[in-house]
Parts: sequence; structure tokens; C-alpha cells
Amino acid sequence: MGFFGSKKEKRKDFPCGARIDTLINQEFCCANPECHKGFTKLLRPHFDHIDKVNTNNSPENCQALCPNCHNNKNLQENKVAAEKNRN
Ligand SMILES: [Zn+2]
Repeated sequence: MGFFGSKKEKRKDFPCGARIDTLINQEFCCANPECHKGFTKLLRPHFDHIDKVNTNNSPENCQALCPNCHNNKNLQENKVAAEKNRN
């Protein structure tokens, strides 16, 4: 099970089946069309909540991003949140 993450996670997350379905749907590549890197043992998928609601663990809300794109998405979202809070 190492490929899908071996860390024990306390927070609610996508069930294993949803993760596997997502990877198959994305042909084991990053969901970002500008990236589309294939996942390997060294480039493990990060599972992301598309609607940003991290309690919504339905398979439709799951996308697999490479660590780099996941990081960029989080940075982008934090920026948007920060701009919203300023007003
Ligand atoms: Zn990527």
C-alpha cells in the first residue's frame, strides 16, 4: 500500500477505492493539464479536494496532483483567501 501513502492520517480523507479510481481515470498522471506528469514511486500522487471542502470525500471530489502542483494550488488558494480577508 506504500504507493497510496503509508502515513496514518487522522483527518478524514478519500477512501482507498476513490483514490485508485481517480488514478485510473487520470491514467496515473497529474490532474493539471499543463503538467500531466506520470506518477511513479518517486513522484507520488497527492489527493486533492476539488471543491476545497475537505470533508467532502466523494470520489467526484477527488483529483490526484503531483506534489508540485498540489503545492501551487494550495499557495494560490491561500493567496485568494488572504485577498478576500483584506476587504
Ligand atoms: Zn503536476
